[in-house]
Amino acid sequence: MSRKSSSGRWKQRQARDPFVRQAHAGGWRSRAVFKLAQIDEREHLLQRGATVLDLGAAPGGWSQYAAGKVGRGGRVVAVDLLPIEAIDGVHRIRGDFTDEKVLEQIIDALGAGKADLVLCDMAPNISGNSSVDQPRSIRLAEAVLQAAQRLLKPGGTMLIKLFQGEGVEELLQEVRVQFASVRRRKPAASRSESREIYLVAGNYRL
Ligand code: SAM
Repeated sequence: MSRKSSSGRWKQRQARDPFVRQAHAGGWRSRAVFKLAQIDEREHLLQRGATVLDLGAAPGGWSQYAAGKVGRGGRVVAVDLLPIEAIDGVHRIRGDFTDEKVLEQIIDALGAGKADLVLCDMAPNISGNSSVDQPRSIRLAEAVLQAAQRLLKPGGTMLIKLFQGEGVEELLQEVRVQFASVRRRKPAASRSESREIYLVAGNYRL
């Protein structure tokens, strides 16, 4: 498929997508915000006053939503390799969360305690070759699980994006060791043709 026709198709799909239009009309930075909002409606993840860490936050839709939900008494820390434009009530950190220096900045920004909720909508750079992309996405999720020990409060919750495919069942087993409850969610705003799913992992026990 030529690059031109695939970008033309992407533009057509964006123009037809009701969530793209709603995001634009509502001042949201991404259509992804509706995925979080739909999961949150069901799971009640975001509580007033909570400390939330948003990993892979750019352009910032999830952080906008989280800041509104936790309110002034809460705290939202947003991390991404890419720059994120300022969002009221959100502390931004630019860098790779697996880098020790960035991890230390995150720990500092979380303040005295750790996060009540870690959000992770991260995706690796997609090459289009699933035998490369799938292991990359699993490695990224494993790195998040490992970092959770330093970032997430005991009893805390994590919402993490995964791509269905090789390695997911093994990863789920690891998640079940670390969290007392694990549920899979595929919100309506997640395109049906996309292999992405979200895990809601609750009651962190490490
Ligand atoms: N939830 C976001 C929103 O609503 O605007 C969209 C997130 S976007 C799908 C995924 C992001 O993950 C990208 O901006 C990418 O730069 C980031 N990312 C991927 N690997 C990362 C890493 N190792 N450290 C920090 N950010 C990363």
